[in-house]
Amino acid sequence: MARTPVIVGNWKMNLTRSAAADLVNALRAKLDGVRDVEIGVCPVATVIPSIAPLLAGSAIRHGAQNVHWEDSGAFTGEISGEMLRELGCTYAIVGHSERRQYFGETDARVNQRAKAALRWDLTPIICVGETLEEREAGKTLEVVGRQIRGCLEGWSAEELKKAVLAYEPVWAIGTGKTATPEQAQEVHAMIRGLLTELFDADTAQAIRIQYGGSVKPDNVKSLMAQPDIDGALVGGASLKAEQFVPLVRFRD
Ligand code: PEP
Repeated sequence: MARTPVIVGNWKMNLTRSAAADLVNALRAKLDGVRDVEIGVCPVATVIPSIAPLLAGSAIRHGAQNVHWEDSGAFTGEISGEMLRELGCTYAIVGHSERRQYFGETDARVNQRAKAALRWDLTPIICVGETLEEREAGKTLEVVGRQIRGCLEGWSAEELKKAVLAYEPVWAIGTGKTATPEQAQEVHAMIRGLLTELFDADTAQAIRIQYGGSVKPDNVKSLMAQPDIDGALVGGASLKAEQFVPLVRFRD
């Protein structure tokens, strides 16, 4: 089954409004003609209202780096799906390893956040991945399998089809160490196999699984050549047009 690659930049807590506007304009100039890759950027929430109009009519969609599981209420510092929808967001990243590590996110919370995204017609990008310690202990497949089960517990196949998954080994995020294409493919294939078991083969074949972890212009081609890698979630290299553009244009 042909799955349209999806490449999304996670800007994390970087770029104020003017720097974000400069980046968006540079990306538009080089990416507006791209039709065969779905492209997104996820800025810090305060920047979304200023870049949304700059992206109108372009090939680049925008999203948020998190979403709360309730639609409103006494949740200081959080943002709801309805609020993101109002800003024209397409994506909400959930379960990023930095959220898990620094803010105590659990699979159960990630599950709730992703479900809230779906309620508001946002595509959740659900992140999973093992630490270095877990990989060295030979527990990668077990850990990632457990995260996938927890994040998707209680989901229907129809719901899953509206999500994107991202395999991001924690040891590869922001470190310059990338998983080899073979290491990434092994985990992606395991995830797809598990989705076949938990849902059905059609759903498992339809779902897009991004790889994330120090994706750069010089490694994107070999990662994207793997049969079960359907895109990339990109941190550092998404902050510079000269790096993000060739990532998106990995086929050139
Ligand atoms: C990320 O934060 O999702 C990520 C993959 O970061 P980097 O590309 O910088 O490793």
